[in-house]
Amino acid sequence: MSVFDLIDPPALLESTNQCIQCEACLEVCCTANSADGLFMNPMDRLSIINRLLKGYPPLPDEVKALYYCTECGKCDTVCPQEIPISQTIADGKVMMVKKGFGPLPKHEKMIKSIFEKRNAVGKPAEARLDWIPDHLKGKIQFEEAEGDTLLYVGCLSSYMDKATAAASLEILMAAGEEVKLLRDEYCCGIYPYNAGKWEEAKTIFTEMAETFKKAGIKRIIVPCAGCHRAFSTYYPRLLKDFDIKVLHIAEVIKELLDAGRLTLSPSEQSITIHDACKMGRKFGLYDIPREILAACGATLTELPENRDEALCCGSGAGVRSLDAPLSMKIAGKVLNTAETETLVSTCPFCIFNMNYTSRKTEAGKKAVHIATIVRSAME
Ligand code: SF4
Ligand code: SF4
Repeated sequence: MSVFDLIDPPALLESTNQCIQCEACLEVCCTANSADGLFMNPMDRLSIINRLLKGYPPLPDEVKALYYCTECGKCDTVCPQEIPISQTIADGKVMMVKKGFGPLPKHEKMIKSIFEKRNAVGKPAEARLDWIPDHLKGKIQFEEAEGDTLLYVGCLSSYMDKATAAASLEILMAAGEEVKLLRDEYCCGIYPYNAGKWEEAKTIFTEMAETFKKAGIKRIIVPCAGCHRAFSTYYPRLLKDFDIKVLHIAEVIKELLDAGRLTLSPSEQSITIHDACKMGRKFGLYDIPREILAACGATLTELPENRDEALCCGSGAGVRSLDAPLSMKIAGKVLNTAETETLVSTCPFCIFNMNYTSRKTEAGKKAVHIATIVRSAME
């Protein structure tokens, strides 16, 4: 069976037919408000898919508009027709690939690099474990060790946000959690999946699933919202036997705090919380990060758009690799509405994009992962 058989074109067409063109989704879409170019909004994206499914070849601007969706899901929350818009767009991208119109050349370049270097940030594969702090070297368990719990660190934390990787491991070790790492961790494969390149995504998913099986993994802990989405939703969609339990590190921290296995020394700090789309709208993780930050002594400030209404950071579903200035423009809107210097997120990719944007625009803001806040409160 081909991966493309997992898409149901009549159901997809039916979704797009439900649109009454009320334009409610235009107001909330981060790209409709920020991207240059035609068709950069949910309503037009549905029309593009509708025409594609009826056999009309898309214009180059239409292909581009589809791939400029961050899959943030904010449009889903306002549609009076309750169309699963972001899911429809995601599946529409797969149909673009199936019919030979997608993805964009930058996607192909990035996917080639992921296969060559085994990560999504273009860094050497052999440097993937460089995030491990010296004081932990020699104490770490790898795949051959006993135990069924894996800390899957992810590309962003391994290379670009090493503090998050180290904090996640240190928290788990301090709580006595039996956890192991992979010596040759591979990218989770979310990038080709989001680009609609499902054959390529499945190749990565299959290798990872075999690695997990060989290592006896039954539970995966991740610090990344993207890896969480991949293992919890995308892997089971493409691999019918994949049923490993997936937890975000924030969920595990909450369990450890509740069980009295982690002791924190609260210290006063002012923090704004940003709800990452893939942990918030897509998974409903809203209260746990707030409860953890309160336990760390933080005075929390909310963004004007939070929880289900949170504004995307602008980097998801491969958009940052296509158009970094656009991702920065969207991230700037988040940064500019934060009342505190520090923002906390559950996603290393949001953190990377927000910090990069803050540096380039001199916004004076700093984004950190919730695990690093907890790690600091353990000292
Ligand atoms: S998922 Fe987000 S970026 Fe994509 S169309 Fe909907 S609101 Fe816009
Ligand atoms: S909110 Fe729903 S019905 Fe209205 S334009 Fe957007 S997709 Fe169509």
